[in-house]
Amino acid sequence: MLRSVFLAAARSTRMERLISTAPVTKGIVTRFVAGTGVDDALRVTGTLADDGLAITLDYLGEDTLTAEQATATKDQYLTLLKELKDAGLTPAAEVSLKLSAMGQKIDDRMAYEHARAICAAAVEAGTTVTLDMEDHTTTDSTLEILAELRKDYPSTGAVLQAYLRRTEGDCRELATAGSRVRLCKGAYAEPESVAYQSTLDVDKAYVRCLNILMSGDGYPMIASHDPRIIAIAEDRARWFDRRPDEFEFQMLYGIRPEEQARLAADGHTVRVYVPYGDEWYGYLMRRIAERPANLAFFGKALTSKK
Ligand SMILES: Cc1cc2nc3c(=O)[nH]c(=O)nc-3n(C[C@H](O)[C@H](O)[C@H](O)COP(=O)(O)OP(=O)(O)OC[C@H]3O[C@@H](n4cnc5c(N)ncnc54)[C@H](O)[C@@H]3O)c2cc1C
Repeated sequence: MLRSVFLAAARSTRMERLISTAPVTKGIVTRFVAGTGVDDALRVTGTLADDGLAITLDYLGEDTLTAEQATATKDQYLTLLKELKDAGLTPAAEVSLKLSAMGQKIDDRMAYEHARAICAAAVEAGTTVTLDMEDHTTTDSTLEILAELRKDYPSTGAVLQAYLRRTEGDCRELATAGSRVRLCKGAYAEPESVAYQSTLDVDKAYVRCLNILMSGDGYPMIASHDPRIIAIAEDRARWFDRRPDEFEFQMLYGIRPEEQARLAADGHTVRVYVPYGDEWYGYLMRRIAERPANLAFFGKALTSKK
């Protein structure tokens, strides 16, 4: 129930205005978001890299409605990649991007061209790109663009969402040599016709997908904070004899940092997803929707004076 309220709020411009201008909001945002500028992104990336963690950076912005906005977002990524290279932060840091921020809803060819320019800049910077996955209406288009990009940039990463009924099939398709696939549970409000609704069904689907990816030939990226999923993934890594450079764990910035450190200390590759930029609102609402403790944190900050 609360989850759907916050997922609806993520799409509400009225709520966005209210929350973005609340004086206490800054403190809440910095728990989950590196900051608004490239310098913030570089600072947080440097700290995480010093701690032995890998990083994927997300310039926040989604549902871009004009071509100018899409081009500006693409340019932000080009600047980011150059600065990461100049700061010696590649290959530890890669970038994650949302095709909706590249104009996918206006014209998917435009989104492809922008993503392609970013892939080229990533190669130049000595790193790579992962395409985030958004709501189910975009899945086919995103996987088609991924396939096109991989012809010239084979290391481009995919994201698959375990809550979608189709995903086991997509895992089978993508579990091929060199294919980087991030498996997550899925963060959007989806109808029963396309997605499992109960936590148990989503978790069971996640494990089925995990088995396919870990037993396949690709490079699985296990994106979850769930202790049970992480324990099962560690077990499958032993079972399928995967070395630390043959799969990785991924978690969001600000969520379970002690667990990130524990896995890294155990010799695993752990990548932290670090968002930055002005458009943090939708991202923050999805994090609050996921976990009541995040809501309590948010409520406390909103009602406190500082
Ligand atoms: C790196 C990364 C990239 C992602 N990319 C995408 C994407 O492209 N598209 C998309 O739809 N979604 C994406 N997601 C979000 C994802 O789909 C889930 O919505 C999100 O990760 C929550 O699911 P979960 O598996 O972490 O565990 P949940 O089901 O949220 O939680 C399960 C359990 O994990 C533990 N836990 C969770 N959060 C915390 C916390 N804050 N502190 C302590 N314990 C906690 C608790 O024990 C909890 O019961 C991404 C997630 C990650 C980590």
